[in-house]
Amino acid sequence: SVPLSFFGGIGGASRHGILVKGGQYMERLANAETVVFDKTGTLTLGIFKVSAVHPEICSRQELLEFAALAENGSNHPIAVSLRDAFGGELDLKRVQKTEEFAGRGIRAVIDGKNVYVGNSRWMEESGFAWQSCHKVGTTVHVAVDGSYAGHIVISDALKPDALEAVNHLKNMGIRRIAMLTGDNKEMGEHVASQLGIKDVYTQLLPTDKVALVEKMLAQKHGKDTLAFVGDGMNDAPVLARADIGIAMGGMGSDAAIEAADVVLMDDRPSRIADAISIARKTMWIVK
Ligand code: ADP
Ligand code: MG
Repeated sequence: SVPLSFFGGIGGASRHGILVKGGQYMERLANAETVVFDKTGTLTLGIFKVSAVHPEICSRQELLEFAALAENGSNHPIAVSLRDAFGGELDLKRVQKTEEFAGRGIRAVIDGKNVYVGNSRWMEESGFAWQSCHKVGTTVHVAVDGSYAGHIVISDALKPDALEAVNHLKNMGIRRIAMLTGDNKEMGEHVASQLGIKDVYTQLLPTDKVALVEKMLAQKHGKDTLAFVGDGMNDAPVLARADIGIAMGGMGSDAAIEAADVVLMDDRPSRIADAISIARKTMWIVK
């Protein structure tokens, strides 16, 4: 049976906007040794703004329109930003088909033409030579009807409490803090260095994230536990695999919230340190 004090801990956490789905997660949170963060939407806002548009074979507006049409069915933060950047009314009758590929991008049929929208991996896999303007950000490439059509650079911003969140965890004695991302090396390392995270892995597919977390789980000692913090639909498998899966409750996808053991109602990563503090105090009362 679950000791009564666990309920006190769960209630205390909930008053801080931290939803803990069961008493066993209190004990695991108290023993957290490793905290692994996903980047986009977890440490960053997940709200991208277009900072450069480089068309190769069409106008700027046409490039944005192809990207926005291809992304019309996606909830990915990148898709939302591309639709916002285009700004105009989208004529969805032009779109015959769209398909999303995790960690890569979109394949669509627009005006009867094949359209590819996504990262450099996606361009390479689809046989397109891509260009880059070397601006720091997430680069979204577009190919239309067998030709490379240009790229769009979008940038995200850190959450206001991201640095505090990482520093607080370090001060509490959390031994390993890591960041995983499907985003490119430059962007991933830029974000990690701003936050003082040295353990950073970039250009990961959802399956790579699971494999890395499994490796880190094998590297810990004794009762120590690993928490993974994520927001996206693709994070559900890692959230389930970690000792403690922590999801963003506001911006997070339904799949992530469902798979998680702990949900942060206000999406603030600094709540993780609060959750661990509450859990440590609860365990102290229980014992
Ligand atoms: P993260 O690991 O940072 O949360 P994701 O795994 O969701 O990021 O995506 C990884 C990368 O895959 C993105 O940075 C982007 O380059 C590409 N990507 C994923 N989904 C899309 C999409 N709908 N449109 C364009 N690019 C995408
Ligand atoms: Mg994400």
